[in-house]
Amino acid sequence: MLSFDIRELGARAAAVDGWLSPDDAIWQDGDDVPAEPVHVTGRLSRAGTDRFYWSGRIEGRAGILCRRCLAPLTASVAESVNLIFSESLPDDEDDPDVFQIGPRARELDLRPAVREQWLLGVPTYAVCRDDCAGICPRCGADVNTGACDCPPENDSRLDALRSVRSDEN
Ligand SMILES: [Zn+2]
Ligand SMILES: [Zn+2]
Repeated sequence: MLSFDIRELGARAAAVDGWLSPDDAIWQDGDDVPAEPVHVTGRLSRAGTDRFYWSGRIEGRAGILCRRCLAPLTASVAESVNLIFSESLPDDEDDPDVFQIGPRARELDLRPAVREQWLLGVPTYAVCRDDCAGICPRCGADVNTGACDCPPENDSRLDALRSVRSDEN
């Protein structure tokens, strides 16, 4: 469960221990959706008259692509989370660590916050291995499996020279 009764939270803190499925409706088109359910843990407590504080962790695995060769790979995501949920957003409207909850909301739903933290935690630069040679920028061949038939890199200067000459003609 990632949803909490706000009146009960007013009386006592709640333990957070739930899962956010990759199929959950909270994910949007274009998200780096997790490869398997995300484990969401921690403690949710009252932090003022209309504020609640979630201190915890999200952990899961993301299916992403190697930045160099585009091979699919799985990356671990483990993020500490320290967030405020507030019924009002006085001065800190732009503070990314404050989430708004409706003024008469009965439930505090952690899912939008989990989604956001997840997207922040998914690595944007990952390689399948440190010495991944990537793909050839010209023909797109995976250079890890052997050199392609393209001429060596330094020929690009010759190409530039050729195009200058043909421009002159
Ligand atoms: Zn790679
Ligand atoms: Zn090539």
